[in-house]
Amino acid sequence: MNDYLKELEHCELCEHRCGVNRLAGETGVCRMTTPVVASATLHPAPPESYTVFMAGCNFKCLNCQNWSISQYPDNGYPQRGYVSPELLAEESVDILKSVSAGLIRADRIFFSGGEPTIHLPYIERVVKEARKINPDVKVNFDTNGYLTESSLKRVVEFTTSITFDIKAYDEKIHLALTGASSEPVLRNARYIAEHAGDKLWEYRVVVIPEINIEDIKSLTGFIADMNPELPVCFLSFRPNFVLENHPGASIELMEKCIETAKKSGLVNVSRAGQTGIPGSIPPSLKGIDDGAKLAGAYAANAGCRSDQRNCTTCLFINDCGIKRYMPGGFPGRL
Ligand code: SF4
Ligand code: SF4
Repeated sequence: MNDYLKELEHCELCEHRCGVNRLAGETGVCRMTTPVVASATLHPAPPESYTVFMAGCNFKCLNCQNWSISQYPDNGYPQRGYVSPELLAEESVDILKSVSAGLIRADRIFFSGGEPTIHLPYIERVVKEARKINPDVKVNFDTNGYLTESSLKRVVEFTTSITFDIKAYDEKIHLALTGASSEPVLRNARYIAEHAGDKLWEYRVVVIPEINIEDIKSLTGFIADMNPELPVCFLSFRPNFVLENHPGASIELMEKCIETAKKSGLVNVSRAGQTGIPGSIPPSLKGIDDGAKLAGAYAANAGCRSDQRNCTTCLFINDCGIKRYMPGGFPGRL
């Protein structure tokens, strides 16, 4: 066993605080034991990077665009596997020096997933090894914000930049969409604003028609109250995972979100992502005019067995229908 993974013997890396012994094969909400790299590749989206996708996630977002990675191991999708920190560090530093990296101006290692928090000790070790080779190597951490305060402080310590998702401000919408409470996410968003604003690349908010639209005003108000100059990027929802047939966000809706953000006082607002992807709400869910209830109904249809959809307290974390969910058109469990 690698000593640097010792804290996985009682895992409290994120706010689910499962306390399980991952090194002995016990699993908590994320269902991960030891670190698994899904893949790593040069990535042109800002901040341009060598992006390392870590497998597994502590959220079960209905709209996950990386579900084959995030819902591992239950969906059985092949991943790259364990890579020693020394090897991944050397590979990352080497690739960032390559001509291909130069062409897209990639200048940092970007840890994404899944959710990198669930592999924090491993990532710290990769960064340490990378900085032995190049002390100036930049690092981005891409997170859903559900870290403990202690994990967040560790992340702030070693990162150059942080991309921080806020799935919803409203507790019920956040629970229904992700299976986790919004409270720690908002607390951590505030911590970054107050203590590491210079590291915040942007808060990212996926705009999902009929689900979180009414929430945008509260969310942008929350951010503007902290500091109107904090950067916010709205991402257009595109049909994915459990919401595979749900309509994508229109350009008009995205512009409306930007207008709402500006009215809240935010001055550094942008949007990204393809708009206008067609889709429709299934007939059985039509007419539900509350975003949290609609998301909850989608989750129930896809196999969530908890009314609250709170994975922290759920009795079915090791037999979760959402973790096993396969969008239509994909092969069944491998
Ligand atoms: S969900 Fe969070 S606390 Fe639970 S085992 Fe995974 S990383 Fe640890
Ligand atoms: S069944 Fe339980 S663990 Fe699975 S998504 Fe629902 S609340 Fe979360």
